[in-house]
Amino acid sequence: MDNTRRYVVVGGGLAGLAAAVWLAEAGHRVTLLERRARLGGRTQALRVPEVDDLPDNGQHVLATGYEHLFRYLRSVGTDHLVEFPHGGALRWPGGRSVLIHTKGIRALPTLLGAHPDASPLERLRALRATLRLGRQALFQPADLADITTERWFERVGMPAKAREALWDWLALGIAAERVDRESAKVFADVLATGIRQEIRHRHAVGIGYPVVDLDTLFITGAQRVFERYGVEVRYRAVADRVVIEDGRATAVRLADGTVVPADGVIVAVPNSRIHGLLDGLPEHAELYAAADKLGYTPIVSTNLYLDRPLGTKAAMEAIIGGTGVIDEVFDRQRMHRRVAQGAWLYCLTTSGAYEQIHKSNDEIITEQMELLRKHYPAAAAARVVHAQVVRMPRATFSQAVGTDGLRPDQRTSVPNLVIAGDWTRTDWSATMESAAQSAAKAVVALTK
Ligand SMILES: Cc1cc2nc3c(=O)[nH]c(=O)nc-3n(C[C@H](O)[C@H](O)[C@H](O)COP(=O)(O)OP(=O)(O)OC[C@H]3O[C@@H](n4cnc5c(N)ncnc54)[C@H](O)[C@@H]3O)c2cc1C
Repeated sequence: MDNTRRYVVVGGGLAGLAAAVWLAEAGHRVTLLERRARLGGRTQALRVPEVDDLPDNGQHVLATGYEHLFRYLRSVGTDHLVEFPHGGALRWPGGRSVLIHTKGIRALPTLLGAHPDASPLERLRALRATLRLGRQALFQPADLADITTERWFERVGMPAKAREALWDWLALGIAAERVDRESAKVFADVLATGIRQEIRHRHAVGIGYPVVDLDTLFITGAQRVFERYGVEVRYRAVADRVVIEDGRATAVRLADGTVVPADGVIVAVPNSRIHGLLDGLPEHAELYAAADKLGYTPIVSTNLYLDRPLGTKAAMEAIIGGTGVIDEVFDRQRMHRRVAQGAWLYCLTTSGAYEQIHKSNDEIITEQMELLRKHYPAAAAARVVHAQVVRMPRATFSQAVGTDGLRPDQRTSVPNLVIAGDWTRTDWSATMESAAQSAAKAVVALTK
């Protein structure tokens, strides 16, 4: 191992953090450049002084199959801070709700269509359609990349009630994109990854969540690793260009003119920030064009502090018939064993929030409270103690039809320059696992 090499990592989100941690663990010298005054990128805790609390910029959930993300958590010593409950709840207007299970034999009714009004025939149809989905995910029809997930559901004959009670929100949750826009191939690829992992590890895929804020989960442990290995972290260091000379990356130039010498570079920024950084690469024009075509999908998160509990049945509840997209209600009292002290925190996430993103904070809070009042009888007289709206117009890259094949490989034509980030090519959609997996691939490509 060559211990004298200095690697520069651009971007202190999950992909950059994981790359820096793993390079340091392997004995390399590392400099991490982050344009903002803090690490974490799109996963971060936000302090709310009004109620002295620390919610996140948006509730993040994890799947048991997040192999690379768990590797990162083990590296930074926080893998024990994630919990996998047996399931969640679905909730309809009027307060009707059902518990759904994702583990073991109890997951079967979920696949059969957890809708309380589904007839035995509809459940059988749901099972048949689910088996077809699974088979076609593993052995994909050639045109999956050309059709939407909605069209795919129609083609396999998924009954409307099974879609409402499971498949539509699952597909939306996985790709943060509406089923009438999302590429069926994106959903099929993630399903296939899940099925293969289930077969390999002999356990059903489960959905879990951190029991602490995102800074404690991702950053505090990373900082300990950085201290241990002497990783240099530069804040407010805006990378402007990777310097390439004679076919090799030799430095990263910052916006303030500083030049940071490098024996190898990992650029771990989102597709929205890649322009200009790689101008020295022969293929930069195609790379930028792909980044632009991938585009963005918005997420709006609302952290609502209420003067009373909502009476949830589970920590994670999917709201059916919400704002028309996907709405999830996360009960932070259950998730974090949070003691409410007069203000109960519920985190609401709306994915594919193309309309909501343009609304004012007041409009969003009013809309979310109406939603809660419609679905939770206990919310009828609830008062908002404090509310925090987090708008993320570029929450993730979009995985709409026509984006298949656009995600670039981590390797570039310059051997000691690689890219990472959730939008680069992995077998997951735009997720934390994709960010961590991209970092693992980038580190291997750079150091092999
Ligand atoms: C509200 C919300 C909810 C989500 N929910 C989930 C979920 O439930 N489950 C899930 O798996 N995923 C979820 N995601 C997606 C997940 O957060 C992202 O996929 C992941 O965090 C992306 O990590 P990254 O390192 O690729 O990018 P980022 O986190 O964007 O990190 C990139 C970093 O690079 C820095 N940077 C950019 N340009 C420069 C430059 N020129 N110089 C120096 N630094 C630079 C940025 O400041 C940033 O810190 C969600 C995302 C959002 C926004």
